[in-house]
Amino acid sequence: MKVLIATAVIIGVVVFARRKPKTRKLRKLPSKFRFLSGIIQANNDYYNSLSQEEQAEFTRRVGEFIEYREWIPRSMKEITMEMKVIIASHAVQITFGYPALVLAHFKRIILYPIEYPSRVTGKKHKGEVNALGVIVLSWNHVMDGVRIPDDGINLVIHEIAHALEIENIVQNGEWAFIPEDEMKAFKKEARKVIPEIDAGTSLLRPYAATNQREFFAVVVENFFERPAQLREVHPTVYDLTAKILRQEEWAAKQEL
Ligand SMILES: [Zn+2]
Repeated sequence: MKVLIATAVIIGVVVFARRKPKTRKLRKLPSKFRFLSGIIQANNDYYNSLSQEEQAEFTRRVGEFIEYREWIPRSMKEITMEMKVIIASHAVQITFGYPALVLAHFKRIILYPIEYPSRVTGKKHKGEVNALGVIVLSWNHVMDGVRIPDDGINLVIHEIAHALEIENIVQNGEWAFIPEDEMKAFKKEARKVIPEIDAGTSLLRPYAATNQREFFAVVVENFFERPAQLREVHPTVYDLTAKILRQEEWAAKQEL
């Protein structure tokens, strides 16, 4: 009997190993998501830097990101599919290095047409990520980020970077995916760079010096929008960001 069980276990392992796809690129794009690719192509430079197979995977992830969420329009009639795709595509580019990550904690996206008064501070906000699992965005500012793709400012990338950090510490099915030592090394480097921002000698805008969380979010914006410049000015920050996002391969290809 023991031999039989052992044999079954071994066969099970072999079958499992054979079934496992070689890479994430081999997953097929479901036909219901195919129409999304044209909208992504027109609005997302990162997508255009990917191979054909990666683009299919990227599109599938955008479709999943949209389906997973409740989209709530405020002070506007509706959130169109194009709006959802633009927001989702900039979120997926941050999580693309993690094949299974859906940012499960963030189930709701609230969209305003322009800056909105925050319920917490009473001040006008362009966007925020709520620890209870809500992402709030001003559409006007989402599009500012899309229209100028190389100035290091992109609202969706900024807010999703915050969401990524929160997802990593919320104890659910997808947490602690960023090893602690990697975040520690990043924070240590931030402490070195923040004085340079204050002195006006950094590529990063002054807001990045607010605190560690804002530093991370602004770095991620720059990592995607002007990677070669970030690598030149802050090479260690660039390498650590590539590692944290599991995007080392993409990061190595970026040139001035
Ligand atoms: Zn922020």
